[in-house]
This record gives sequence, C-alpha cells and structure tokens, in this order.
Amino acid sequence: MTKFDGEPTKVFGNLINGEWVNSEETFLVENKYTHEPYAYVAKADDAIVTQAITNAVKVFKTAKLSTTDRYTILMKAAKLFEERKEELALIICREAGKTITDARGEVDRGIQTFINSAEEAKRIAGQGLPIQGQPGNEGKMAFSIRVPVGVVCAITPFNFPFNLTAHKVGPAIAAGNTIVLKPAEKTPVSAIKMAEILLEAGLPAGYLNVVNGYGHEIGPVLLKDERIAMYTFTGSPTVGKVIKSESGIRKVTLELGSNSPNIIHHDVSDLKRAVKLCVTKGYVNSGQACISVQRVYVHSSIYDEVLRDAKEIADAIVVGNPENDATEVGPMISIQEAQRVEKWVQEAVEAGARVVTGGIREGSVFRPTILSDVTEDMKVMCEEVFAPVISIVPYDDIDRVFELVNASRFGLQVGFFTSNLHLAMRAAQELEFGGVNINDVSSFRADILPYGGVKDSGVGKEGPRSAVEEMTDEKIITMHI
Ligand code: NAD
Repeated sequence: MTKFDGEPTKVFGNLINGEWVNSEETFLVENKYTHEPYAYVAKADDAIVTQAITNAVKVFKTAKLSTTDRYTILMKAAKLFEERKEELALIICREAGKTITDARGEVDRGIQTFINSAEEAKRIAGQGLPIQGQPGNEGKMAFSIRVPVGVVCAITPFNFPFNLTAHKVGPAIAAGNTIVLKPAEKTPVSAIKMAEILLEAGLPAGYLNVVNGYGHEIGPVLLKDERIAMYTFTGSPTVGKVIKSESGIRKVTLELGSNSPNIIHHDVSDLKRAVKLCVTKGYVNSGQACISVQRVYVHSSIYDEVLRDAKEIADAIVVGNPENDATEVGPMISIQEAQRVEKWVQEAVEAGARVVTGGIREGSVFRPTILSDVTEDMKVMCEEVFAPVISIVPYDDIDRVFELVNASRFGLQVGFFTSNLHLAMRAAQELEFGGVNINDVSSFRADILPYGGVKDSGVGKEGPRSAVEEMTDEKIITMHI
C-alpha cells in the first residue's frame, strides 16, 4: 500500500489567466472509500465563470501558440505526468474511489492521450480541392486550411477524471484553441493537478481556465455565453440533451452512456478468455464506465459452463479499500449510487431475475454481481446500470440477438466473440454502434483511435485525431489566377 496523505486542508482554486482564484464558497470533495474530507474546492460564481470565458476569448484573439510550441508543451506535460504518476494515481484513487492499480493505468492512458495529441498538433492540414472539375473554373484553384474554432468549453464526468479530461484538453491545445474546463464536482482535483502541471510544462497563462462547481449551477452560465464556440461534453445522456438543446447552432460533441452488450457465440476460439474478459471488464471501476460490460448474451449450448465459470471469477475478485494493491473492485462514487443499483437489482429479482452471485451492498461498495433469468425490459438490461452488475442471457438464434442488441436506445460499443468470419463481418455491418469489437469486449478502447457513439450514446468522435478535427473548422480558399 502506498503512503500519501492527500491535501485535505487545502482549498483548490479556479484557474483564470494563470492565477488560482478563490471564492467565498467552497465545496467538499470526499474520499470515496473512507468518506472523510479529501479536499475543498472554491466554487466559481457567475462572475468567475464569465471572467474565465472573457479571458479565454482575449487570449485566443491576441496570443497564438505556434504548432511546435503546442507540441513541445504537450510532450513536456506528458513527461511531467510520468514523473508524478504515483501522486496523480493516488488523487484519482481517493477522489474517485478507483483502485490504485486502475488509477495508475488511467494515468498511463492519459500520458498516451497527451503524446498523441502533441503529435496531432503537427498534422493539422487542409486539402487541395478540385475546383477545376466544374466547368467555368479553369482559371481558378482551391484548397482548404484548418483553423481553431476559438473557445472550447470542456465538461467532464467523474469516472475517468484524468484521461477523459486529457481527451479534451490535449486536442484543444493541439488544435490551437483556448479552453474553459469544468471538471466533475465529485472529482475535480485530478483536473486541477493536470492544469497545474500544464502551467509547469510551459502553457502560457490563459490558454486553459478551470471553473469548479456543480453542473446545475455553473452549466447554465457556460451554456448561455455565445462567446464559447464549442462544447465538448462527456457524461450522462440527460445532461447531454440539455447541452445539445442549449448550445443552438454552435459545435457540440457528446460522449454519453450505454448499456453495453457482448455476445459469446458457440464457436468462440477461446471461451475461457471471453468469459474472463466479460466478467472482469464488467467490474472495472465498479462498472462505472460508459462501455462497461453490462449485457452478456451467450449461446445456449455453452450457457451453463459460462455461468459456472463467470460465478467462479466474480467470487474470486478482491473487493475493498482501493488503496490496497490487491484490490480489484473498490467503492462506487457514492452511497446514493450504490443504493440506486441495489434497488434496481431488487426490482429485477422481484420480476423474476436470479442473483447468481453478489447483489450485496456495504456502504458505497457493491459486490460484483451476476444476474440470470433477466428480461429485456428490466432496468438492469435496458437502462445504463453503471455499476458492477452484469446479466447473462442465453440465446439460440444469432439473428434474434443482433435484433435485441440493436433495439437499445444506446449505441456506443459492442463486443462479439466468434471465430466465424462471415458472422464477424455481418456484425461489423449490421450492429448499430459507434464501435464493434470482434473477439474483445465492449469496454476495449485504444485511446489513439476514433471513439464515440450513435443514438443516445452521443454525437461526434473523440480520440486525439478526431477531436482535433472536431475542434477545428475547415476554411475553403479559392483563388482566381
Ligand atoms: P453527469 O452528466 O452527471 O455529469 C457530467 C458533467 O456534467 C459534470 O461535470 C457535471 O457537473 C456536468 N453537468 C451536470 N449538469 C449540467 C448542466 N445542466 N449543464 C452543464 N453541465 C452539467 O455524468 P457523470 O455522473 O459525471 O458521469 C457518468 C455518465 O457519463 C454516464 O452516463 C457515463 O456513461 C457517461 N460517460 C460517457 C463516456 C463516453 O466516452 N461516452 C465516458 C465516461 C462517462
């Protein structure tokens, strides 16, 4: 176990033009396992939020960073994150309740996100355009350039407070924008530390501004300010819809939730691997990931074996204090969230579901749970469960499973285990998702790739290359020669 005392007495400020600004009101961030105070954070009032936006506009208009400067700063930040990895991991562990092992993994991913963003800064380019293909344009030429959109407002969720902030801040800087960042109020310290380190890495004052507070208080101020050119949001579909409707004709990317399905077909080449992945990846971060394995459809010929092995794997998972190296599943983000899932499981049981293992809550810790005998209309199946709960469902007809999987209002990622190439290609074409992972689970994501959902799972793509594209406008230049 690593020793780190945290900073429970420190008040973290809002970052405006390179200065940490305090305010009269603070809010508490608690340690999600012990429920003791972890940090106090200054709440940004309307005036501070407006000041942050004004500053971001001013810096965008007056002080451009060269492409190579952006590259150098982002690479330097990645190096500093590496040097301070243990400190950052402990912040994530304490404020989010993520196990220390997964927290270290998140910092590693965040470092890669910054490196990939730095590299993308060098690749921003327009294209030559075939204007002469249209009669009457013989004496003309055309090309495009990509220009930064302006002020990007980044709003982030609690579940990956470092890497998902990196997925917005890294590309926004790479693209040459200025940023107003609003981190999740449950986990703001990871983002504040990222901002501190970016300043240390040489990001000039004012490029990144951080405003802290509750979404329902700060959100409306951020959304109504027309000087913000783009909102990049990761969070719940409910808030995503508010952002889409309030942002008018401005640019938006929304990375939202899902009730991620996974299919294990009878011809899977390595059944043990498939079961292990489906079970363990349903419990990472206590199942609080948008692509966390939730629904597992298993061919009926292997169903009994899968259920038996899955129970064995779930029962062996070490649950407890996230700061212990051996712990695999820690607490959920709050007692209320753990109570919510407890209620969903009870509701499912009352409607005929069976708890194969788990279903037990102790404070904010919910034991890894497997349900069987579920129906499609139960909340644990049709809503985003966002907890360490997976449901295992037998099927006979793969066409019917494709239909069920597509019937969801969500469409982020799906996992499909099969050795049948024809079926795999059919899945790639027919499943209505942002990503189809063949012989891997829904929760597989390589940060370098484009990533994003369809339907209620969102619009637009993240991943450094895609995010840079979303955060730049293509400007068309024509020239009469
Ligand atoms: P949330 O929607 O409650 O909060 C996300 C952010 O939005 C927070 O910073 C919050 O303060 C802010 N917010 C809340 N109300 C607002 C308002 N009215 N205006 C502006 N901002 C507002 O989500 P959460 O509980 O932090 O995160 C969980 C959700 O995020 C899940 O649904 C999960 O699936 C989703 N998620 C999606 C992805 C993805 O990449 N698709 C990744 C991680 C999490």
